[in-house]
Amino acid sequence: MNNHASSPALPDFELNLKGRYCLHPFRSMELHLDGGAYVCCPSWLKTNIGEFKKEDIREIWNSPIAQDIRASIIDGSYKYCDKIACPFIQGEALPFYGDLEPKMKKYIDNKQVVLDTSPENVMFTFDASCNLSCPTCRSEKLSYTIDSNEYKDLNKLCHEITASLLKDPNTDLTLNITGSGDPFSSLAFRHFLESIDGTKYPNLKFRFQTNGLLLTPIMWERLSKIHNNIEHIYVSIDASTSETYAIVRRGGHFSVIMENMRFICKLRADKKFKHLKVNFVVQQKNYKEIPQFAKIFLDMGCDSIDFSKVIDWGSWSKEEFAANCIWDENHPDYNHFISVLADPILSHWNVYLGNILPYRKLAIQRQMANQPLLQKYKIFFSYYLRTKFTNLFKKLRVLKKKIIHLFKL
Ligand code: SF4
Ligand code: SF4
Repeated sequence: MNNHASSPALPDFELNLKGRYCLHPFRSMELHLDGGAYVCCPSWLKTNIGEFKKEDIREIWNSPIAQDIRASIIDGSYKYCDKIACPFIQGEALPFYGDLEPKMKKYIDNKQVVLDTSPENVMFTFDASCNLSCPTCRSEKLSYTIDSNEYKDLNKLCHEITASLLKDPNTDLTLNITGSGDPFSSLAFRHFLESIDGTKYPNLKFRFQTNGLLLTPIMWERLSKIHNNIEHIYVSIDASTSETYAIVRRGGHFSVIMENMRFICKLRADKKFKHLKVNFVVQQKNYKEIPQFAKIFLDMGCDSIDFSKVIDWGSWSKEEFAANCIWDENHPDYNHFISVLADPILSHWNVYLGNILPYRKLAIQRQMANQPLLQKYKIFFSYYLRTKFTNLFKKLRVLKKKIIHLFKL
């Protein structure tokens, strides 16, 4: 992908990655529209490890390039990763050695890059069908009809890949659907989901990435055979007002997404699935709504609120993309963008700033500058200590997961 989303080099962007270990190349595989298999999102790790439509998925998993990518995580060079774009690097979210599960520690201790297990998380990103045409993504809607060859091929692919990965019924597998369109707008994905009998595969889990507009009570009922397999739902919303929503989610209506979100939040409150996240892709059109967005969806009971910079998917001209890169210090609204990021709600432990984090730090630095000593301390306590508690809270959550896993609670 032609990504001219480079950020201004903030003072501390070059993080020391030694001693931190990204799990993605050891656990995840993304199967993309271009036929390539990746061990991470190709927006920040562009090298593919093989062609999933031509080669056996389990062979691709240990291809020479996959091995070299893993080696670069173990040696700390991260030479394949775009360190500016990666939200895990910029968001300081990569775990330290002590936070890792035993299996991952073993890989690192033995410098093991050929893995004896297949990927645990596989993302289906090979159907672009979607009910929206967001300007960041495409100029018009796309949908493969049930009588098209594309529908037949893509639906078949879903079944074949899943069958191959589930040869061992005890395999733990999470299918993430989708990063290329919408799981409920795509007939290939939706019919695949409706056809699976989840009771036969208790270790098969689903994570949905959706714009949420079709996730209604009726759609939920259609998925009844996999209700116990659904673990995560991620909803991309990108706005907190109907005016902005109509622009950034072209073709969608804010009243519909809010109604659906109330339904999805109720499912979450009733523990029908484990984690509800909302996403906000930051761009010039919506940056002023960042704090309000966090407040609305924290109040609604979402587990996490994720922010990230808009990526150049090639749907805009270079000039249009530059006009949306609000984080570029030459952008006329850059200083206002930084001041918006000073809002204290962004220190909430359920807010994840990803590659926006360096700009939040800058916002706090600016807020503290030229303040009387007492005011500086006030800002210090409301930001730095809150951040420390947030990190502690996140570590406790990881510890809780480990204990649950250990005792299979
Ligand atoms: S780009 Fe980021 S998420 Fe991807 S493998 Fe590298 S560190 Fe991990
Ligand atoms: S909802 Fe997602 S996949 Fe659909 S057009 Fe918008 S950005 Fe693209």
